Amino acid sequence: MKILLIGGGGREHALARSIADSPLVTDLRIAPGNPGMEGLGTLIQIKADDYDALFDYAVNEAVDLVVIGPEAPLVAGLADRLQDAGIRAFGPSAAAAQLEGSKEFARDFCTRHNIPQPAFFAAQDKDSAYRHIDAMNGFCVVKADGLAAGKGVVVADTADEAKAAVDAMLGGQFGDASKTILIEERITGPEASLFALLDGGDALYMASAQDHKRAYDGDKGPNTGGMGAISPSPRLDDALIEQVMDQVVRPLARGMADEGIPYQGVLYVGLMLTATGPQVIEFNCRFGDPEAQVILPRLKTDIITAMLAATDGGLGHFDMRWDDANAVTVVMATKGYPGAYDKGSAINNSESDDPDCIIFHAGTARDEHGQLIATGGRVLAVTGMGDNAAIARQKAYEAVAKIDWPEGFYRSDIAADS
Ligand code: ATP
Repeated sequence: MKILLIGGGGREHALARSIADSPLVTDLRIAPGNPGMEGLGTLIQIKADDYDALFDYAVNEAVDLVVIGPEAPLVAGLADRLQDAGIRAFGPSAAAAQLEGSKEFARDFCTRHNIPQPAFFAAQDKDSAYRHIDAMNGFCVVKADGLAAGKGVVVADTADEAKAAVDAMLGGQFGDASKTILIEERITGPEASLFALLDGGDALYMASAQDHKRAYDGDKGPNTGGMGAISPSPRLDDALIEQVMDQVVRPLARGMADEGIPYQGVLYVGLMLTATGPQVIEFNCRFGDPEAQVILPRLKTDIITAMLAATDGGLGHFDMRWDDANAVTVVMATKGYPGAYDKGSAINNSESDDPDCIIFHAGTARDEHGQLIATGGRVLAVTGMGDNAAIARQKAYEAVAKIDWPEGFYRSDIAADS
């Protein structure tokens, strides 16, 4: 099969590695990819946000399956366009991707289907937003409705803080994405992520993970896209997973189908494990980053067979097998991230010959001499595998220590409490 994978980050490197491993794949094209993926397929110089060019390429090259890594092309309807042109696309339609693209849509949907979540109010004007903030004594969460690259959420301790977030967001901080905002009840508890595969009707549990969002050790510093992760999540046992499948994922799959917007693809459920049970914090309509890098190395089933079962509606009798091993991913980022940082620093020794260690590229490129350089905030994601979390962690950190990149930094406590 000829596959086109869209995206160029660490998540897509992990997807490319699993896809290249499939016996069904004869030709893997990656747009735009990154230097870490050079040996896995052919890199195509089309950006992941150039939807017209990606669509034309898939049609002209008669691609059998397009795998869409990031959320933006899904929310923009690239999967719909491809399906309409007779090309299989892995990932939900624009209507179904609203579960991520509009937080108000996701919350309203959960209300209609009795899926456990915090109380919330949608607002488009300051007065009603302020009223709900005061009713919650300022202990609330203010969110932009639309996509805001992980920056559209303010967890407030006081009414002043929450109202300042309202002013900024309704004042146009995220453009159209914050024309509507949500004021949510602030719930408490540990967080965990659960991944499922949906085929438009049926849902299959895939795996769990736990990420580390803050930039520095001890969960200090600003929020980031994710500085590391562990899979499985030490916080989700079999009983909790079944509870989430029963109360969240299966009702969601049925509800979307009943409402005429069947969901097909990966569903990422962000959960808070509260004293009264798991509640939905957010849905994402694709794999996470760095969650893909920690989950996919544990996948034993051929990923393309699984994706085809999702696109063609055959998950009812499908079984996905996963390695019992634990995986730990440590992200290496450019000093300064998530604030301003320099680009172009040289990276050396970024190969590992340890079979239990994989180095995924996220923000890298080659300069005119072929030297590997850093071009992004999050640059490498190093995954270690082992019979338990401690061994996996040790493998990841051994590989990190060998990488020669003075401009990089990483957290030293990923999975330390597991
Ligand atoms: P991401 O980068 O994960 O996609 P996002 O912008 O979609 O982020 P959310 O995941 O909805 O935002 O929220 C970010 C974080 O804010 C959550 O991981 C959680 O810690 C906190 N949070 C969100 N909603 C609530 C809530 N209702 N109560 C308490 N904390 C919350």
